[in-house]
Amino acid sequence: MKLLVTGGAGYVGSVCTAHLLDAGHDVTVLDDLSTGHRDAVPSGAAFVQGDVAVAASGVLAEGYDGVLHFAARSLVGESVVDPAKYWHGNVVTSIALLDAVRAHRVPRLVFSSTAATYGEPETSPITEDSPTRPTNPYGATKLAIDHAITSYAAASGRELGAVSLRYFNVAGAHGAFGERHTTETHLIPLVLQVAAGTREQVAIYGDDWPTADGTCVRDYIHVDDLADAHLRALDVAPTGEHLICNLGNGTGFSVREVIEACRRVTGHPIPAAVAPRRAGDPAVLVASAARAHERLGWTPTRGDLDGIVADAWAFVRSRVPA
Ligand code: UDP
Repeated sequence: MKLLVTGGAGYVGSVCTAHLLDAGHDVTVLDDLSTGHRDAVPSGAAFVQGDVAVAASGVLAEGYDGVLHFAARSLVGESVVDPAKYWHGNVVTSIALLDAVRAHRVPRLVFSSTAATYGEPETSPITEDSPTRPTNPYGATKLAIDHAITSYAAASGRELGAVSLRYFNVAGAHGAFGERHTTETHLIPLVLQVAAGTREQVAIYGDDWPTADGTCVRDYIHVDDLADAHLRALDVAPTGEHLICNLGNGTGFSVREVIEACRRVTGHPIPAAVAPRRAGDPAVLVASAARAHERLGWTPTRGDLDGIVADAWAFVRSRVPA
């Protein structure tokens, strides 16, 4: 298939691009490089540097079989202090992309959604029918885009099939493609910075949560498993509907368990200190991915926490000067 990947210079977008190329697809990456890296774009992909809202229509006019939309602002804390950056950068941009998809009759759209659309869950594991009450503008903008996609697919006269994939905690790396955010907020890369010697210690955001060891529990999923779901979504997308699927392993690990796994994998003592809770953090976020199993035929195979950390660590070490 001829595919457009927005945000293909970012973490998840670059890994998915690598998988798409391996599967024989013809891929164009569109990215403004505001947070992504040009050298993260796999070499087999064509690259267009530009604002998705401005450039997508011109690219799609060439005729495409599908769009995978990863380009987004994704920092929860930043979304609270600068919501305009998120409503414009995520929602307005995505509407422009949807207009271009409609205008050029692209039949498939796969969207990078998030567990942040659910907010504080009432029950665990979270299913796609759980209430969506995001607790920050980042999650609210991703939910708004999901709603927009539902409307566009419904009005497309079965021309557009769309799949939103709601990621839980993506981690790990795919060889040379991994997580390298300028502003890093995610637990595993922060802990590995300590092991790599670029950070002194890691903060544990609260140890008085209602969980077994008092620290927050999350569902960590290997980025390769995530990419596999995107390839499957492309195959099921052309049905004229909008399918929403959670992507997670259905198993939770606490912050302390993650730090322990990082100690085992790296052999570094990794000093950790308990800090106050982080605003907006739910105690437990674990996915039910039953729908992805059923509709996409997707089963994650890389759920082992030490394996996820080992791949992330190999990536970190490959980038630290010897
Ligand atoms: N966390 C932590 N210390 C850090 C970063 C994160 O204790 O330096 C915790 C955070 O409170 C959450 C979990 O680790 O419970 C995962 O956080 P992350 O930011 O990686 O992902 P989120 O679940 O917020 O999407």
